[in-house]
Amino acid sequence: MNDKLERDVTYVKSVGPKKAEVLARVGIKTVYDLLQYCPRDYVDLSEPSEIRTVTPNDERSYVIRGRIASKLPPSHIRKGMTLCKAVVTDDTDDITLTLFNQEYTFANLREGDDVVLYGKVTGNTFRREMSSPLIFPANTPDLIIPVYPLTNGLTQNAIRKAVKSALDLVEGEVEDVMPPAVRESAAMCTQYYAWENVHFPKSMIGAHEARRRLIFDELFVHSLAIGYTRSLDNVYNSCPMEPVTFHRFEDVLPFKLTTAQKKALVDIATGLCGKRRMNRLLQGDVGSGKTAVAAGAAYFAFMNGYQSCMMAPTEILAAQHYKTFRTLLEPLGIRVGLLTGSLTPKNKRAVQESAAAGELDCLIGTHALFSENTAFKRLGLVMTDEQHRFGVEQRAALSAKGSDPHRLTMSATPIPRTLALIFYGDLEISVLDELPEGRMPVATYAVTGRVRERAYGFVKKQLDMGHQGYIVCPAVDESGLDIIDAKSYYEKLARGAFADYRLGLLHGRMNGAEKEEVMELFKAGEIDLLVATTVIEVGVDVPNATIIVIENADRFGLSQLHQLRGRVGRGGHESFCVLITDNTSPDNVKRMKTISSTTDGFRIAEEDLKLRGPGDFFGTNQHGLPTFKIADLTRDVNLLETAQKLSKRFLDADPRLEKPENAVLRELVGKIVEGAAEMN
Ligand code: ADP
Ligand code: MG
Repeated sequence: MNDKLERDVTYVKSVGPKKAEVLARVGIKTVYDLLQYCPRDYVDLSEPSEIRTVTPNDERSYVIRGRIASKLPPSHIRKGMTLCKAVVTDDTDDITLTLFNQEYTFANLREGDDVVLYGKVTGNTFRREMSSPLIFPANTPDLIIPVYPLTNGLTQNAIRKAVKSALDLVEGEVEDVMPPAVRESAAMCTQYYAWENVHFPKSMIGAHEARRRLIFDELFVHSLAIGYTRSLDNVYNSCPMEPVTFHRFEDVLPFKLTTAQKKALVDIATGLCGKRRMNRLLQGDVGSGKTAVAAGAAYFAFMNGYQSCMMAPTEILAAQHYKTFRTLLEPLGIRVGLLTGSLTPKNKRAVQESAAAGELDCLIGTHALFSENTAFKRLGLVMTDEQHRFGVEQRAALSAKGSDPHRLTMSATPIPRTLALIFYGDLEISVLDELPEGRMPVATYAVTGRVRERAYGFVKKQLDMGHQGYIVCPAVDESGLDIIDAKSYYEKLARGAFADYRLGLLHGRMNGAEKEEVMELFKAGEIDLLVATTVIEVGVDVPNATIIVIENADRFGLSQLHQLRGRVGRGGHESFCVLITDNTSPDNVKRMKTISSTTDGFRIAEEDLKLRGPGDFFGTNQHGLPTFKIADLTRDVNLLETAQKLSKRFLDADPRLEKPENAVLRELVGKIVEGAAEMN
């Protein structure tokens, strides 16, 4: 990078050590940081309001053009506190200009001067007042003024002055970080133009163009960092496999694989036989049949003499996968084991010893799989279901149990593709974009609590037909809040509306064995209606269940509701989802409309993203979603797509950023990669 850009910010003329300290608080350390510091907004001074028309105590700030009619003598209101006032007039009315502790600014104003003011207006319509506004001479050449985010001790003027000096300092010497070809393809302005116009725009269009370039830079560099990291993770395949056909596996399946499932299996087989260690994401909406694909992958590993393991986020799911895998794989001679926290120590040890001795070919489990006592003889494939419930460290720990086994991750969260690239940056992706044949969309209705009794009647009709159902509550225990909890709701229903039916209760505070017992009864059809918390959210598969009622539906995210709804409609019977909510806020009404009108997980995810933002979408930032300084992932998706496309092309030509002309980019990418390494 240009030397001057890397200098400490005190190198800038108007910035001394004290100001530098303040600037450091907003993350500005170098000249470059200063130039990259983006205004949060702009004021257009060419469009003033008439004083007569401004509303006092409005949220917004106003631009006013007028003349200083009179200045009052400064008054010392308190020790160290000076108050200066002047009356400013335009042809329509007067306004009082008030300045605290700004004697110097005040002294520079003269009666008869034409000025432009920008600030909030207080007082009332008879006596309007503007306190400590930004003041510009009427003939100011800059008509569009940036408004920066501030911190204590930092003023708009101070930043503007510093930026101006910085721009003068580097004028004519700035080498563009962006390679010309990329800049042209993305139709971006030059770097210096961007800095000049983001800070001192001649027009709003200029400001917009400049901003677009800086956002693009951020996204482009980030995309490069992802691609670059992936090239470093070019891990040699230390569990190489040979092609085998899936015929035998397909023969034992009770159904025909969908085209999407077949394609995913081919992707996986290719990966397992490739030069590099496979690291693949299998993404598919609820009910798309990810488990069968996972079983196919385990079969492939087995045929190559490798063990595999599958990690599930809950005991219920682990138990369910265990059953499915046994049904599908044992006829093929594959020995399947289950390892969960609720096994007795003796049983646990027995399973662990079998895995270590190579007497088990496929081990299903929960977090217990991470325990240091778990070892494998020849682990070749690690599969995780619903990965973002596991931490990065846990996955790494499991990987360490083999000689760098292949990885397959399953997720039912349909992440918009652009975000998937950011979120799962280093993964290859296979998508199951097709549901098995004969599935009917789940009819979904949002209602208020007033028709609860009718909803019960509807549920009973389903149960009387021999089907089963779920009622989901947001809480386990009574909380005192206005939230329906599973325990007391269960009691109430068992004694009241559903006294004639077999009810079950399932929630996260029950121990593993208790939960499993209830699930077994439900699967066996010995429970008609299961009152549950969101423990059933992920993956639970009971095809005979045709109705799900969700209480306090407004307490769940859209994607979560979609997951819950995915518990029904799995068996080819007409199925229903009833959402009960008394929240009539426009936001909630909109959410309920969305979920009732579509069963497309991707559309729902996108809607969720718009309503809640990317941070919430993934729970929190701990999932490795980067935070950007200027870019906003909900708003700048188009730029992100361009950046991803161009960065890929760019890296194809220089995968490790080794060409001399890419030195500056390598530096910027290096900073991100280092930062990410520190986070992990
Ligand atoms: P998810 O992708 O949500 O994990 P599952 O793997 O649990 O979905 O599969 C959902 C249901 O669909 C299961 O009952 C499974 O047996 C069934 N299934 C999976 N693949 C097919 C298929 N190709 N044809 C018919 N049913 C299928
Ligand atoms: Mg599943």
